Amino acid sequence: MLIVPERDIADLITRKAAFDAVEKVFAAMASGAAYNFPVVRESLGHEDALYGFKGGFDRAGLMLGLKAGGYWPNNLEKRGLINHQSTVFLFDPDTGKPTAMVGGNLLTALRTAAASAVSIKHLARPDASVIGMIGAGHQATFQLRAALEQRPFKKVIGWNYHPEMLPNIEKIAAEAGLRFEAVDLPGMGEADVIISITSAFAPSLMADHVSSGTHIACMGTDTKGKQEVEAALLARARVFTDEVTQSITIGEAQHAVAQGLLAESDIVRLGSVINGSDQGRTSDTQITLFDGTGVGLQDLAVAAAVVDLAVENGLAIEVDF
Ligand code: NAD
Repeated sequence: MLIVPERDIADLITRKAAFDAVEKVFAAMASGAAYNFPVVRESLGHEDALYGFKGGFDRAGLMLGLKAGGYWPNNLEKRGLINHQSTVFLFDPDTGKPTAMVGGNLLTALRTAAASAVSIKHLARPDASVIGMIGAGHQATFQLRAALEQRPFKKVIGWNYHPEMLPNIEKIAAEAGLRFEAVDLPGMGEADVIISITSAFAPSLMADHVSSGTHIACMGTDTKGKQEVEAALLARARVFTDEVTQSITIGEAQHAVAQGLLAESDIVRLGSVINGSDQGRTSDTQITLFDGTGVGLQDLAVAAAVVDLAVENGLAIEVDF
């Protein structure tokens, strides 16, 4: 069994490797070669922690495993550790024996950023030039960096519930040599692509804040009850997702479906667009919306990529198990 510790991940994986792994596994999910297991998420009643498992099996890529982890809100203050903690375990699908244990913290950030970047590649208008960010926390910086590689954006605009956090994303724009402007929510009408990545339980972005032809990646809603955008916006858009089951239960689409504004059958898997079995955006004026809920197979795909890189670079620790 191979171990790749968290400390080595940053030196091994690249945004491109994460993007390629996620794009490939989304396609495998849509073709039926790969599927995700039902998500387990438990409130432990200890340290206010949320803990759970996301797993899956990719028959084509021969990847089997799970990510175990969650959120420990007291970690930083009490122990100087980051609050999100996760580890990926890979197994040999022929024997069930464990093959790898991989640090999952940075990988989670990179695979989530890769998902919205893959949606932009396949769904945003080719001439998209302004990108809007809703959210300016830890994950927002990863999302923006990966998104900027998908189109020759000329400007970044941003809104955040806590405006004092906006410099986090302004810094990423500056690193890419782009102008940044803080806007109010109606100002998002200037954006050709919008990424929302917040922990909100009530919508910020309303249907009339968005212009025709925009692509929106809703990335923050990954739990029942969370919501970032008005349900009516999903009714105005062609809606895509990583995994339909998750989209309608824990994703952004849960609200539009519950309100009868969107049918489960209206939601298209992004992998179908990647595979070429769905045309994706059908006009320059259509609004496309990607509901990125985060699936176990994304974690397995980036973890498997990092194990290969660790072996190539002599950094994988081998243990008898
Ligand atoms: P963070 O705590 O660093 O940032 C939280 C963000 O939400 C900040 O921008 C904050 O200002 C904003 N926010 C807080 N309360 C708000 C409110 N009431 N209304 C609007 N905005 C509000 O967290 P993060 O690590 O950046 O993660 C953001 C979200 O993304 C979380 O909800 C997390 O669960 C989710 N997430 C999703 C995936 C996925 O695969 N879809 C993966 C990782 C994280």
